[in-house]
Amino acid sequence: MTKYIFVTGGVVSSLGKGIACASIGRLLESKGLKVALQKCDPYINVDPGTMNPYQHGEVYVTDDGAETDLDLGHYERFTSCATSKENNITTGKIYYSVISKERRGDYLGGTVQVIPHITDEIKHHIRLLAKKGKYDVVIVEIGGTVGDIESLPFLEAIRQLRLELGRNNAINIHLTLVPYIRAADEIKTKPTQHSVGKLREIGIQPDILLCRTEKPLSKKVKAKIALFCNVEEDSVVQAIDVNEIYQIPLIFKQERLDEIILKLLNLKCKDNDLKDWEKNVVKPAISPKYEVKIAVIGKYIELQDAYKSIYEALRHGGIANNAKVEIKKVDAEVIEEKGACATLSDVDGILVPGGFGVRGIEGKINAIRYARENRIPYFGICLGMQTAVIEFARNVCGLKKANSTEFDKTTPYPVISLLEEQKKIKNLGGTMRLGLWSAILKRGSLTFRAYGKSHIEERHRHRYEFNNEFKARLEKEGLLISGITPKQGLVELVELKAHPWFIACQFHPEFRSKPDKCHPLFREFIKASLKRRKSI
Ligand code: GLN
Repeated sequence: MTKYIFVTGGVVSSLGKGIACASIGRLLESKGLKVALQKCDPYINVDPGTMNPYQHGEVYVTDDGAETDLDLGHYERFTSCATSKENNITTGKIYYSVISKERRGDYLGGTVQVIPHITDEIKHHIRLLAKKGKYDVVIVEIGGTVGDIESLPFLEAIRQLRLELGRNNAINIHLTLVPYIRAADEIKTKPTQHSVGKLREIGIQPDILLCRTEKPLSKKVKAKIALFCNVEEDSVVQAIDVNEIYQIPLIFKQERLDEIILKLLNLKCKDNDLKDWEKNVVKPAISPKYEVKIAVIGKYIELQDAYKSIYEALRHGGIANNAKVEIKKVDAEVIEEKGACATLSDVDGILVPGGFGVRGIEGKINAIRYARENRIPYFGICLGMQTAVIEFARNVCGLKKANSTEFDKTTPYPVISLLEEQKKIKNLGGTMRLGLWSAILKRGSLTFRAYGKSHIEERHRHRYEFNNEFKARLEKEGLLISGITPKQGLVELVELKAHPWFIACQFHPEFRSKPDKCHPLFREFIKASLKRRKSI
């Protein structure tokens, strides 16, 4: 039977609930358990696909093409759990399903209400995941902060579920903040007391408190929290701030969080071993030998979360090459103002990530020109491939004003454009080319050598495509098409023949990179950037 861990958050947002859940997942996997993780998001959008990064941060894409919350990225990076559309529930998705049933007449004669209809639907979706994968443990993260109006139906659903499942089959973990007040030189437990009080008001008594803190918690403070929150003293667990997120499973293990969970869930497992994780991930991340500086050119660079998986995958490239990757976040519009040389002359590699809309496009194109002409390793991802093609068409093939029809509908040279079938689509939600698609790589290409095989599968999220009408023209001038889809011949990868390392792909390799198994393109990009740094 599958056991459940429900994780809620209190006091403030941004406490790192997703990373905490992922770390618990890793800890339990190391005990030999089969673990799945699921995120419940209280907003009314059906999925985050239609939200911009200011609202939501990165949209994480799964193999099956679901546009999901970025916490699923943490789940996949820390554990071997393969996520899909079932791993992310939103209020929008739940209501959409209940309202469709109501229109169909499924509840004929009845009044459709939050309790039981919405809560039943939530419980159904939570249980569905366990049925699918025969998991030992499912960790369910409830988004938002306790006290929010929006998350109430989810909290009510997990309250009911725990009763249905039985005491030893489900537990509640509450992640909270225990702030340190500098002026008083004191650690304060009151916000945690209030947060737990709020949870108890709705019938949830946490079993474990995971306390985010910048200072170690004394036994006395833990005892006070335990007393006021009605939790056993052993179950007040310190989650101290760390610089390296991949350390967190080890920190939790030191706090014996795994043993506390297993005891509460009545699970007996072999002794756990995080040695590989420590050796292959944490050590090289903390004390690397080399250093390399990579520019990421975006338009949301002031946001921490907008390019989350890109930043993580770059760090994985660093781990694989024993290097610390310093990321220089460059605003594409600043390049438009100041020029590429003024902003990029100190970097060893340049990456243009995915994106939508015309703002900053010319800055990205300038950066790519700078990388091409100065033989700086360049890695283009999705929009970063489309802009690389535009740059090549304009500045190498002389097709002035070449563009994507996303940015200039009347361009004389639409080197990036919509396919006929995309033109017919009216709805914007969930209608892009999404999820896993295969590509065949050209033997002998840089890309082929990086992967070490000719058939690959990668995750996509885009509407526009390389326009094959321009293929011959661009190839003639030295653009190498190194990967295409097997059936339609859509361009998946390009490289430059006359350049040490220039690869751009239409897909998102960052979603399949892990700290202990770096994606080959990130590994090779960092390797090439390091090589350049050493040679100059
Ligand atoms: N805006 C481009 C498209 O829709 C690129 C998308 C992306 O970079 N994810 O095709």
